[in-house]
Amino acid sequence: MKIVNTIQEVREQVKEWKKQGLSVGLVPTMGYLHEGHKSLIDCAVAENDKVVVSVFVNPMQFGPKEDLESYPRDLDRDAALCEKAGAALIFHPAPEEMYHDDFSSFVDMNTLTGGLCGKTRPIHFRGVCTVVSKLFNIVTPDKAYFGQKDAQQLAVIRHMVSDLNFGIEIVGCPIIREEDGLAKSSRNTYLNDEERKAALILSKSLKKGRELAEAGEKDAGKLRKVITDVLVSEPMAKIDYVEIVDWNTLDAVDRIDGPILAAIAVYIGKTRLIDNFILA
Ligand code: AMP
Repeated sequence: MKIVNTIQEVREQVKEWKKQGLSVGLVPTMGYLHEGHKSLIDCAVAENDKVVVSVFVNPMQFGPKEDLESYPRDLDRDAALCEKAGAALIFHPAPEEMYHDDFSSFVDMNTLTGGLCGKTRPIHFRGVCTVVSKLFNIVTPDKAYFGQKDAQQLAVIRHMVSDLNFGIEIVGCPIIREEDGLAKSSRNTYLNDEERKAALILSKSLKKGRELAEAGEKDAGKLRKVITDVLVSEPMAKIDYVEIVDWNTLDAVDRIDGPILAAIAVYIGKTRLIDNFILA
């Protein structure tokens, strides 16, 4: 497995693979890889001849008061995981490689990005769409892999690919969890022991909500309330949002008639965690 830092090196390698008629899968990440990322890489390795994993903490998707500086990084560990999983290349650019001093073009989206995480993170999806577009142009993969853990991001990327005719198949992969139910996240490393225990309330609340929905409840307000009630029972949890939205439009729904996304964002101490379930 190769690790490269420049766009040119990626382009040369991919050109070589394409000359040989090989298919290419891309797994975009911010590094500090865990089993959730590994599940995406496993899926990509199973479906493509060559897999590129990008490891880039993208400054453009962090707000001024967010955790860009403290975001965990460990390329050696990431490289070991990627190699074991069968990836062929890690693309690990410096911020200057991705954004030159005169960088001034952005990919923005009018729908899907205003609600849910877009409310507290107003510039986040512009940063995500811009960097993912650049990665798509640099790697030119046949398929790209994204986790349902970031469900809004998955919906946004699918929409962007359709709007801008990227001609790349977007594959969504299920949420991977710790044994006790906490969704795996690089940000879980911020939690101290007490917070780690309290963080379980996210998956617990969604489990309650899912049970209610699966039992046939059609009132989205009731679903929202059940989830909220479980969350407020944990004194360390501060709710950012609890939303029941249409899985296609991400608009809030009153009735559960079609596919829905139940999504939550909750602060445990200073750490903002997200989790969700989809009922198709
Ligand atoms: P990140 O490094 O947090 O930007 O995540 C990179 C990719 O891994 C995104 O598509 C995430 O949705 C996905 N991902 C992160 N955590 C998980 C998880 N627990 N299960 C499945 N996919 C995940």
